[in-house]
Parts: sequence; C-alpha cells; structure tokens
Amino acid sequence: LTSSTTSPGLYVIHIAAEMAPVAKVGGLGDVVTGLGKALQKRGHLVEVVLPKYDCMQYDHVHDLRALDVVVESHFDGQLFKNKVWVGSVEGLPVYFIEPLHPDKFFWRGQFYGEHDDFRRFSFFSRAALELLLQAGKNPDIIHCHDWQTAFVAPLYWDLYAPKGLNSARICFTCHNFEYQGTAPASYLESCGLDAHHLNRPDRMQDNSAHDRINPVKGAVVFSNIVTTVSPTYAQEVRTAEGGRGLHSTLNSHSRKFIGVLNGIDTDAWNPATDAFLKVQYSANDIQGKGENKEAIRRKLGLSSADVRKPLVGCITRLVPQKGVHLIRHAMYRTLELGGQFILLGSSPVPHIQREFEGIANHFQNHDDIRLILKYDESLSHSIYGASDMFIIPSIFEPCGLTQMIAMRYGSIPIARKTGGLHDSVFDVDDDTIPNQFRNGFTFLNPDEQGLNGALERAFNLYLNKPEIWKQLVQKVMIMDFSWDASAAQYEELYANSVARARAANRT
Ligand code: ADP
Repeated sequence: LTSSTTSPGLYVIHIAAEMAPVAKVGGLGDVVTGLGKALQKRGHLVEVVLPKYDCMQYDHVHDLRALDVVVESHFDGQLFKNKVWVGSVEGLPVYFIEPLHPDKFFWRGQFYGEHDDFRRFSFFSRAALELLLQAGKNPDIIHCHDWQTAFVAPLYWDLYAPKGLNSARICFTCHNFEYQGTAPASYLESCGLDAHHLNRPDRMQDNSAHDRINPVKGAVVFSNIVTTVSPTYAQEVRTAEGGRGLHSTLNSHSRKFIGVLNGIDTDAWNPATDAFLKVQYSANDIQGKGENKEAIRRKLGLSSADVRKPLVGCITRLVPQKGVHLIRHAMYRTLELGGQFILLGSSPVPHIQREFEGIANHFQNHDDIRLILKYDESLSHSIYGASDMFIIPSIFEPCGLTQMIAMRYGSIPIARKTGGLHDSVFDVDDDTIPNQFRNGFTFLNPDEQGLNGALERAFNLYLNKPEIWKQLVQKVMIMDFSWDASAAQYEELYANSVARARAANRT
C-alpha cells in the first residue's frame, strides 16, 4: 500500500555513479537522493543502483548486507562475478554492486579521475542491468545519469530488452554537458556493445571526432526521455556555443528533451533542524544566524570586531566552469569593500589547486578572509548558516544548487545570469520581475565589472538599509526550492512515456 491515493504508483530505478550523502562529488549526488525521496513521498517505488565504492560514507548506509546471490556480468568477452549488497540510504533502498574483477574497479580511494573510468563505469552500467534482469525486476522507468551510466540506454535496447528486461522506458538526465566521456570506438566492445553498429552519426559517434564514440550522445539517442537540470540550460545547450558539440543531436531529439529545474533536499538543508549549525534558526527568528556568524568567525580565526561586517561565502568545486577568476576577484573586492570572505572549495585541476593554496597561505592570518581548500560537508553547512551573501559567478551553470541552499539559509545570492542561476535568482532591482520573486543580485557579463556591480549593490543594501536587508533574508528563506514541483514534472514525464509505450503495445 502506498500513502498517496492520487499517484499512478510507478516503479523507478535510478542507476547512478553518485548518491548523497554516501557517494557525493557534486550536484548529481544531491539530485539522485532528492528526486528519489520526493518521488517516494508521492507514492512511487524508487530504488537506486550504485557502485560499491571503498570510499563511501558507510555510516550513512543503514542495514547494509550482502545478498546470497552472485550476479555474473560480461566484460571483455568473459563473465565476472559481482557481489551485490543492499542497504538503505535516506529511506531509499539501494543496491551496491561490488565487481569481483581483478582490476578492483571501485576500490580506488576516489570516485572519479581514474585512468580507466570508461571501463569502470561501462562495466558498472552493464552489471546494473544484469542485476535487474536476474532479480526479475519490472521497472516502469530506468533513470540513468551523466556519461558514467549513459551506457545503460544502448545496453538496454540492444542487449537487455531482447533478453526480457523490457518493461521499462529509459530516462536519461545530463547534469553537465561538459563531461561526455568520449573514447575510442573500440572501447565500447568491452561491455558488449557493438562498436561497428553504434559508431554512426545517428547513433553514438562523437560529432567532431569520428573514430570516437560519445556515451552522452548515445543516451540522448537511445533514451525515451532526456532531461537536463534547468530550462535555461536546456536552451543554451541547443546552441553551437553552449552544446559542447551536441547541439545538433539535441535539436534532432528536441521532442523528448526538456529542462527541469532541480530542487534541494529541504530535510537535509534546513536551518531550523540542522545539527551542523551552532544555533538553529528560521525565517521567523533569524537571530540565530548572527550567532552562527560569530561562531564561524571564532572557529576560523576571523575578526569579530564589527558585528555588521558583511560575510560573503562561496562553496564550490574550483573548476573553470565556476568562474574561478571571478571568485578570486570577488575575494579581493570584498576585502576592499570592507567585508569578510570564506571560500570552501577544492580543485581537481592541479594548477588551480596550487594557485588557491598560494592565496590561502598568503591570507592565513588575515582578519577577514579564510580559504579552506578541501571537501567538508559539515563546514559547508556552517558557512551557509553564517554568511550574509553567497557568490556564484559561474561561466555556465547547468542548474546549481548552492544558490538555492544559500537562500534557504538566508544568505543572499550574487550570481551570474546563466543556466539554472538564471532560472532561480532574480535581481532585487529588476523592475520587470514581480517583486515576490526577487531574491538576489545578478549580473550578465562574466567579467570583473559585472561582478563588481552586483557585489557593490549588495553591500550598499546590507550596510545602508538593514531593515530591507532583513526582510529580504526572511523572504528568500521561505521561497520554495524543494523537490515538490520538479518531482511532479518528472512524474508527468515518466507517466506520459509509460502511457505512450502501453498504447503502442496495444496497437
Ligand atoms: P556541481 O554539481 O557543479 O559541483 P552544484 O551547485 O550543482 O555544483 O552542487 C554543489 C554541491 O556540492 C552543493 O551541495 C555544495 O554545497 C557541495 N559542495 C561543493 N564543494 C564543496 C566542498 N568543498 N565541501 C562541501 N560541499 C561542497
């Protein structure tokens, strides 16, 4: 029995490389959990299949146990055993696949960035489908994400539907078209796909390198539903400038392609209950926010001399997409304007990491700025809770979650108008937008002048109109960035696709 009487009760299985909080690198992990929970709440049966990484946060997996069955899957023309574990994460049932392959695919101490990522994740995609087949599952929707599990779409139609795993429609969500996982066409053979058959312009062939295949393109071609994570980004990637080579493919498949704005997990991100915060607070009583600001200043050794000194936060992967040069500029400009700045971020790009380490060292005893160059979930909550403003100067941003989390914690976003930022941050000074939606400061040009303009307007309002600022803080804290609306959209996409398939089967 399900709790919802209105729901059509779909059976949805996500196959993904990340799931918060057990295996999270970025927004993808948040989406799998957030969307999964929201759909479960609406009465659907949701399950997740993940690799069993050695570096997962095992303390967040409940009742983890190995199943008696061993699933054998093909790779490089041989059969390999997989141990299958089950557990529950945030109330969602999760299958963890542990390949018993000599290459120890998920025993690497990190989620991504290995030389054989293509092999690791094509292996996983096939093993996941094999699990569903052997377990006799009949999902209505198999939802795969990003290039790591994009292989699921062609594998499903070419190999698994003929084997009888044929109840499902395939939904593919691309969280960032920058990462497409292209590789020499022959690499496809390892997971049993036919490289010759698939390396064609209308199938998986990369649009610029014709001897390479492109998993993301393959998933766009072979899925029934293709989504990305905001309406504006969906428009941007259909242009030559924004599509990273896939705009023509997306335009050919535009009828099944749509942008759905991500939500945030409002249970995990709730200043009224957040155990990471020194003091919990809510829109009705934001005094606790000041206490969190004071606490983080003390913890990080920043000056507490001026209570009203604005604190700017930034939490991000330090990659070019995020506007690294503008983040750096924002730090210096904030100091010039008399504010304080806390950056929490880390970079997979060695020269960027080194550059920021240099800046961090330079400022290590400074009264007003601290750079913490690592991934730290607990500190991220404290920064959202403490900061007055939050900077997101992305060059492009498929959706972006940090602006929504910041708002939930009453930190006003200063964001570049691109992708999902354009769909969620509306300038307080923009008269063309109804007042009730205005919630931050935006700028269009990705340059220092653009950023300065927005940052200075924010400082002015904060310093000169504290009452209006306070009202703004309270207003953004109660804006709805939950998954409710987006989950309803996914539900509709799923249901329509399933209905179309059933209608086609009847004729
Ligand atoms: P992306 O997926 O491109 O990294 P998003 O804005 O969609 O960007 O999601 C970022 C998520 O990762 C947010 O939940 C943010 O709080 C978190 N995050 C990013 N960097 C760090 C870090 N260094 N420490 C803790 N959390 C981080």
